Amino acid sequence: MISGLLDRMRGLRSFPRGVHPPHRKAYSQAAPIELFAPTQELMLPFVQHIGVACDPIVQPRQSVAYAEKIADAASPLAAPIHAPVAGTIGTGTMAVLPSGRRVPAIPLAPAAENPLPPDFLQRFLDRRWDDVEPERFDPDEICARIRENGVVGMGGATFPTHIKLKKNPAKPIDTVIINGCECEPYLTSDHRLMVEAPEPIVVGLQLAMRACGAGRGLIAIEANKPDAIDAMRRAIQGRPGVEVVVCATKYPMGGERQLIPAVLGRTVPSAPKGLPLDVGVVMVNVATAHSIARGVVRGIPLTHRVVTVTGAGVNQPGNWLVPIGTKFSDLLGHCGGLKETALKVVAGGPMMGPTVPNLDVAVVKGTSGITVMIEEETAHWRESPCIRCSRCVDNCPLHLSPTKIAHAIKFRDYDLANQYDMNACCECGCCSYVCPAGIPLAQYIRAGKNQVRAMAARKQEFAT
Ligand code: SF4
Ligand code: SF4
Repeated sequence: MISGLLDRMRGLRSFPRGVHPPHRKAYSQAAPIELFAPTQELMLPFVQHIGVACDPIVQPRQSVAYAEKIADAASPLAAPIHAPVAGTIGTGTMAVLPSGRRVPAIPLAPAAENPLPPDFLQRFLDRRWDDVEPERFDPDEICARIRENGVVGMGGATFPTHIKLKKNPAKPIDTVIINGCECEPYLTSDHRLMVEAPEPIVVGLQLAMRACGAGRGLIAIEANKPDAIDAMRRAIQGRPGVEVVVCATKYPMGGERQLIPAVLGRTVPSAPKGLPLDVGVVMVNVATAHSIARGVVRGIPLTHRVVTVTGAGVNQPGNWLVPIGTKFSDLLGHCGGLKETALKVVAGGPMMGPTVPNLDVAVVKGTSGITVMIEEETAHWRESPCIRCSRCVDNCPLHLSPTKIAHAIKFRDYDLANQYDMNACCECGCCSYVCPAGIPLAQYIRAGKNQVRAMAARKQEFAT
């Protein structure tokens, strides 16, 4: 609470509670984005978004061109998947997502010659967007092009972006916020994109504003990224209705229930029913805005993304432009492999990212980083009995009682867990981080929510 007040006194946007984990961004924050050119087979899961799984529209042994659509779904709540490289389709199989979920997938073997257009990295980071006039695009056409190019929320949520931006007369939107906070420790992919390609991010923001009818666009960046703040401030010159706002460096600043109150003073109603659009706001990640601009203006589908490979357990940390479907093992091998001290590999950052079950998992549209941690960094999580210190309660940014929820889940009393508002938890991990007993409270809560969802699905199955 006090830190939020102090931040505001320093002129920074902030929210009460939350935590200050070590940033550990120095591993990769100065490393320019480089292209990772795959030589090994890619694995393309048909579920890379929240919604209905895609179906393949190609056959085994078929040759495909770079950016050719290879899977789609009839449902609007889906986003198609495109070939990240030219190559040959393999036989359909099952793949494990970074979250551990098994889903249908198809392999794609890259062509030996010219799997990508020339100058691919330079085009990805192209900064010549001055002549683009977002107000000339029709809002429905923007949403249609976003869907056609497979754009989903790339901050991890993977919600189809065309649905998020579709105008809803019952819930008018006045503000789009670009989330450039990247508050997760270690990760720097959004940071590098803001430094190296700020112009398409601004165009993506303006297109998002046009699509949903918002008159105001904010780019929220934590104060620990001064070069990104400068780059974005330069890029918004001559772009009306757009502003850069500087936020305190605090976790989880990038959460919608923290960032929206911090920059606009509006409280988003509790999850799972309450959404930012209930308070007239849409939030879009930096990488998503970049993909919106490329998809809508240039017709380039989402086939690649910037992935931070980082942590004390990897030999050559950096930021890589990676084809979707790249196996973690191939990318880590390209980065000099794991050190002997490597203990666990996390998809994303350590606060919210899941530990991957093996290194065969593939980069998907929502994979912002791979963090390789060593023993000293993970010792914090060894569990012992609760000492009733209340630190988890005092630091929960959503004012929940994590210890009570986790206790109810441990004893499988899901009704009680619901009474304590289990479903409002955003799984930020602040409670686990501050617990001196090393109790993985957020993991218990995530498991409890999954269990309740599975029980509801089984009930539904029996009823039909
Ligand atoms: S209970 Fe949920 S929202 Fe609160 S700190 Fe823990 S993980 Fe975050
Ligand atoms: S922080 Fe850990 S030890 Fe303290 S009350 Fe919460 S669960 Fe118990």
